[in-house]
Amino acid sequence: MSKSNEPERFPVVVIGAGQAGLSVGYYLAQQGIPFVILDANARVGDSWRNRWDSLRLFTPARYDGLAGMPFPAPKNSFPTRSEMADYLEAYAKKFNLPVRMGVRVDRVSRRARGRTFLVETNHGVIEAEQVIVAMANYQKGRVPAFAAQIDSHVVQMHSIDYRRPSQLREGPVLLVGAGNSAAEIGIELVKRGHRTIISGPNVGEVPNDTASFFGLNIMGPLLTRVIFHRLLTTDTRLGRKARGGGKPHTAPLIRTKSKHLAAAGVERAGRTTGVRNGMPVLEDGQVLDVANVIWCTGFEPGFSWIDLPVFAETGFPLHTRGVSTEEGLYFVGLAFLYAMSSSMVHGVGRDAEYVVKAVAERLRAAKPLSSRTSERSERVSGSTLRTA
Ligand SMILES: Cc1cc2nc3c(=O)[nH]c(=O)nc-3n(C[C@H](O)[C@H](O)[C@H](O)COP(=O)(O)OP(=O)(O)OC[C@H]3O[C@@H](n4cnc5c(N)ncnc54)[C@H](O)[C@@H]3O)c2cc1C
Repeated sequence: MSKSNEPERFPVVVIGAGQAGLSVGYYLAQQGIPFVILDANARVGDSWRNRWDSLRLFTPARYDGLAGMPFPAPKNSFPTRSEMADYLEAYAKKFNLPVRMGVRVDRVSRRARGRTFLVETNHGVIEAEQVIVAMANYQKGRVPAFAAQIDSHVVQMHSIDYRRPSQLREGPVLLVGAGNSAAEIGIELVKRGHRTIISGPNVGEVPNDTASFFGLNIMGPLLTRVIFHRLLTTDTRLGRKARGGGKPHTAPLIRTKSKHLAAAGVERAGRTTGVRNGMPVLEDGQVLDVANVIWCTGFEPGFSWIDLPVFAETGFPLHTRGVSTEEGLYFVGLAFLYAMSSSMVHGVGRDAEYVVKAVAERLRAAKPLSSRTSERSERVSGSTLRTA
């Protein structure tokens, strides 16, 4: 970054180089807008590489490609987390997107008396006319406060830190939270010989086998393309009802269903409500003598580094289709940003394109910072891109 005291300048800074940030980059490049993408991770795709080893996407490859580059696998296969990570890395390379990895953004604020933003990072400061926060609201694991009272001999972690069974002690495992992460990890652990208990209310389930002929050819396309992408949007009454206040709900079980859990021998229990004598207690007062606890209790957006008055009481940003209430600041990738599909691979591109149009309009309307941007600014070859 800039070696002088003056910050480096870009018309647009994108934070996050996952599927959301790369999609934004694709459309910014198409518009010929100079920008840079910053990401704290070491490699593009690391948010997938850092998930558990056995993870496979629940969406088949035909829905796992971003604009301009289909996912390179048979359309009805379910990619592994590493294949998805490598695909994202190849995507950034193919479109020559100006990504800077290992750059963690510690603060985004307004420049004093200015209309621009200051983006403070572990590698210096960048001044930006517009900032796009491009990431899912799955950045930090949420754990109840009473977790701190659990006996220190019990191995505990959030699902965000779970990689493989060898991280656990021998003995029973309690998975708190009954959503998709708990179901998938639970099946893995019961097969490794752990007594496995999933605690929490039933979250419902998608009514078909995702890998069956019906699932792949009828129910999958209906859910993915029609219901999640077209029907449940903030433009429809049904969509607004499903979205609620904007705080994400637990998704229903998609691949691993209750019948699979029962058949594998995973036990079900009510909510975990506290701790007694160092062990978790269920809502019916039962104390569970377990050796391991995995918190599958959801996520926080982790946006404490955004020092701008753009958050509702829920902690989620105030925006319309990603255009925030703070002029020049945008979000892409959040759950139900515009549609049920917004945080999914196949849905993020439409939101990215919409936000980039808003960015381009604002740049056209304003005196461009690009005219003050040094010739060293990274430019990308937008003219080579095709529309998806
Ligand atoms: C377990 C799991 C399974 C999923 N499976 C599927 C699936 O099968 N199909 C599907 O369509 N969707 C799936 N999703 C949903 C979604 O596709 C993923 O969460 C996806 O990773 C979201 O991509 P993203 O780019 O929006 O955010 P992320 O992948 O979270 O990427 C955000 C990036 O921003 C960076 N970042 C964050 N904060 C900062 C900062 N302060 N400074 C710099 N960089 C920062 C991070 O390093 C990261 O690289 C799944 C989600 C989870 C949690």
